[in-house]
Amino acid sequence: MTLSALPARAAEDVTLRFLGAARSVGGSAILLETGKSKILIDYGLSMERGKAGESTTPSFDPAAIDFVLLTHAHADHAGRIPLLYRQGFRGRVVGTAATKTLAGLTLKAGLTYESGGGALMYGPEDVETMLRNYESLPYGCRRQLTGDVAIRLRDAGHILGSAMIEVWTGSGGKMRKIVFTGDMGNGSIPLLREPEMITEADFIVIEATYGTSRRDTEGQEELFVREIRETLAAGGSVLIPAFSMDRTQKVLFTIGRWQRRGLFPAVTPVYADSSLGGKITDAYRRHRNYLHPEVQREFDAGRDPFQFPGLQKVNGAAALLAHEQRQAAIFVTSSGMLDHGNAPRHLKRMGGDPRNLLAIVGWQAPGSLGEALLAGRRRVAISPFHIPGNGAPQSGLETEIRMRVKRFDIFSNHADACRILTWLSRFPKTKQVFVVHGEGENTWRLAGMIERNLGFPAIAPDGKERFSIAAPLPDYERLPDAEPCRGLTGSNGRDVPDGD
Ligand SMILES: [Zn+2]
Repeated sequence: MTLSALPARAAEDVTLRFLGAARSVGGSAILLETGKSKILIDYGLSMERGKAGESTTPSFDPAAIDFVLLTHAHADHAGRIPLLYRQGFRGRVVGTAATKTLAGLTLKAGLTYESGGGALMYGPEDVETMLRNYESLPYGCRRQLTGDVAIRLRDAGHILGSAMIEVWTGSGGKMRKIVFTGDMGNGSIPLLREPEMITEADFIVIEATYGTSRRDTEGQEELFVREIRETLAAGGSVLIPAFSMDRTQKVLFTIGRWQRRGLFPAVTPVYADSSLGGKITDAYRRHRNYLHPEVQREFDAGRDPFQFPGLQKVNGAAALLAHEQRQAAIFVTSSGMLDHGNAPRHLKRMGGDPRNLLAIVGWQAPGSLGEALLAGRRRVAISPFHIPGNGAPQSGLETEIRMRVKRFDIFSNHADACRILTWLSRFPKTKQVFVVHGEGENTWRLAGMIERNLGFPAIAPDGKERFSIAAPLPDYERLPDAEPCRGLTGSNGRDVPDGD
């Protein structure tokens, strides 16, 4: 049984509307309306090319919103909040302190990029307004937001400061608890903590980035290290395009960890080529209390897990001069899809040598240069001022790529379906699960699996409906013989947006 969509909202009802990331992966936005409060959970950008502009007109009155609760700093969750202030929102944003730092850095950087490429959605003053109105809340502290809504943040283990949000609303016999997971981490790289366990909720809103696929990361880190080691030993260099936020930090943390174990020669230069990535790494240092306890112990012992011999911060033209050293090296460069910044320029310099390795560690959007290379294209156009795209042939600019191209799944920061179902299986009962943040069919498939394997009613809302959660609905107990991961397929090999 599932809830039915309601045509209109009664004044005292408590309702949920899934305004974004409904049967899709971008533009997360959920509106919770109670008798006394209007609260948005996330307000992000659509990450599909050309779609960002479509999501600028809200289907609600921004001035009537009391609070925005922010699960984490990725643009597909936070990217439209400055715009909301421009459109009349006057309330506060609530999230962790680390999310405030990361959102401030990335929203300002995104602003520069947007203004270079097209219409400017908001100005730096709107980002400043957002930061001035941001209220930091630590994990585990309950906070009464309004007369009828209280919240608590729990660690989601996805990126630094990411939070699941517990929401209590209503009163007496009509009290309801909703858990919004936001994006959940998968704990494959021990830099962040595992997502916290929660065991009580009337309603659960869960992400489905990986749909029903199971991603086995066993041995993947060792494979990544071995490939790099063998490339360096053969005199080749390694190019690792990595998103500035979280991916760069996980890659540097991993290289440092294995270098300290003696698996990479300490004389190997590792060039970290991303000014935003450097600032975000500093934020990871500053907010070290959000990191995995073992990483915190490293800091306490006076060791910096993001620092190791050979690591050099480089930028701009100086980063390209490093190629003139003619020494086997590792380049970790921003632009996770090789589309902008120095990434295409590194590729142009390194692409012709078959001893070199291009290590793809993140999602490659359809139409990106990274996707074309992963798909096997070996002649691509790279211009001196690279225009984002898939390197389709242009006279005079073609480069033959002879370097090896390999993809490594180990750095994904999304839980796969098995982890999500296992996390859900800790709830002895619930009334309803909503599945969002996944590609079309995948959300329904995961909902079906939640019903079959756990016995909880689950649906994938389509974005047009409004769901009443104050109605007297029954609790559904978890199946006594629940097997969370039964029937899950292996990785389907398709790429999903795991950078966000
Ligand atoms: Zn995310």
